[in-house]
Amino acid sequence: MTFTVLTAEFVSENNTFKKGFTELKDFAVDCLIEGDEALRHRGDANTELAGFADVAREREWRMAHAISALAAPSAPVSRAAYDHIAGVICRAAAALGDRLDGILLSLHGAQVAEGIEDGEGELLARLRAIVGPDLPIAVTLDLHANATAAMAAGAQIWASYKTYPHIDMREVGQRAARLLHDAMARRTRPVTLRRHVPMMDEVNSGRSDAGPMVALYARARDQEREPGILSVSLNAGFSDADIAEMGPTVLVTYDQGHEGAAARAAAIADAHARAIWDARHSCENDFLEVSDAVAVAKGFDPSAGPLVIADYADNPGSGAYGDATNLLKGMLDAGLTNAVFAPVIDPEVATALHRHKEGDRVTVDLGGKNDPAFGGGPLRLEGEVMRLSDGAFRGDGPMLGGLDRSYGPTAVLRVGGVDILVVTENEQMLDRQQLYAFGIDPTRKAVLGLKSMQHFRAAFEPIAGKVIVCDSGALSTPKMSRRPYVRVRRPIWPLDAETTF
Ligand SMILES: [Zn+2]
Repeated sequence: MTFTVLTAEFVSENNTFKKGFTELKDFAVDCLIEGDEALRHRGDANTELAGFADVAREREWRMAHAISALAAPSAPVSRAAYDHIAGVICRAAAALGDRLDGILLSLHGAQVAEGIEDGEGELLARLRAIVGPDLPIAVTLDLHANATAAMAAGAQIWASYKTYPHIDMREVGQRAARLLHDAMARRTRPVTLRRHVPMMDEVNSGRSDAGPMVALYARARDQEREPGILSVSLNAGFSDADIAEMGPTVLVTYDQGHEGAAARAAAIADAHARAIWDARHSCENDFLEVSDAVAVAKGFDPSAGPLVIADYADNPGSGAYGDATNLLKGMLDAGLTNAVFAPVIDPEVATALHRHKEGDRVTVDLGGKNDPAFGGGPLRLEGEVMRLSDGAFRGDGPMLGGLDRSYGPTAVLRVGGVDILVVTENEQMLDRQQLYAFGIDPTRKAVLGLKSMQHFRAAFEPIAGKVIVCDSGALSTPKMSRRPYVRVRRPIWPLDAETTF
């Protein structure tokens, strides 16, 4: 029998502390493509969609792809943009009607839209209103999902990444697709149970290269081979989205037709939730103040590779503005040489620099424009325009390999001994091509200041002499009490020391 499967990607991770809204034009910068055309762009790369397509070929499905809508992490999605994208998916489901055998979705799991606190739960509710309660639905999630109870109830099958840096997107897509196939073929009767840990997020945000989660991901993979246990997902949560159900969750998808699976699934979920809670003091990162990070840089010997300083708190990948200047100021004031700072997201200055030519001397007020209270205000800088570019690059690392991206109008501005990548569009540092494409060879540099929390490690750790992490005080500061939470359910650790679990 040939199954007809509706697929879609609707991915955004929304920081409720960030001003403004994510609009359709912001999706268009990253990816907003309807129908099969999306497969030509994302169907053979490290994406969930590629994993869906692999299994569709393998199991000879009729795959109907509604839309690929992916935005860089940012402010909540506007209601108009949310309704448009959700509408494309829902209309596709309605059009297929009774011919539809299953739905396969790639979502993030921390989507907040204007007036909608649980974007994924709302999408599933709208779909269920069309297809009814029983049609098999499988969903992939980023491991930084806030997975709500409504989400878990809205689909039978859930599969999250098990890597941070995220490098298993295609594999997770394949996994969810195969589980959906078994459900459509009535070989399994999947359902998912959920456990929620009263923490803002897992203590290392789900790092899979260090800390307590390494063992938990390995255990989860083993458990997925147990009879009747179909998928074990450990979601670290996303604490920049102030919603009631924020925090780490465990989702265990099991086969109701397998005797004993329900009890085993509950035991697995309870044990993982307990382990995440018990490890809440085991933070792997040493968050250096700017002055301490710069002191390390001043004495650093780059003969074994550059010093990488992660500007953790201004990670554009968690919805911070990407224009905070505190770390850059520290690097400039210290007179560092042969250094790079990347990126500063400042469309105004990027545009202004494009009115010049390479080699010109310029004076600009760079960065710090969105919210100077978080991470520092604009810096008046005089420097030389080293490179002007349309911002396009093609990734070649573990996360972006083969994917075309663009920073929009981009310039390299050299101030003292620091080459500053000034860009227009929002993108954290994920790939060495984000420097090579603009004439910077990171292997030949002494110091790389990179805006990213953890993802930079996939591409930059292999060439780094040393990695340190800086809290520059920007919007994604690990000092959570600096953010004005109002929605999250209290008590919650670490905001409320008395929290118990
Ligand atoms: Zn993530």
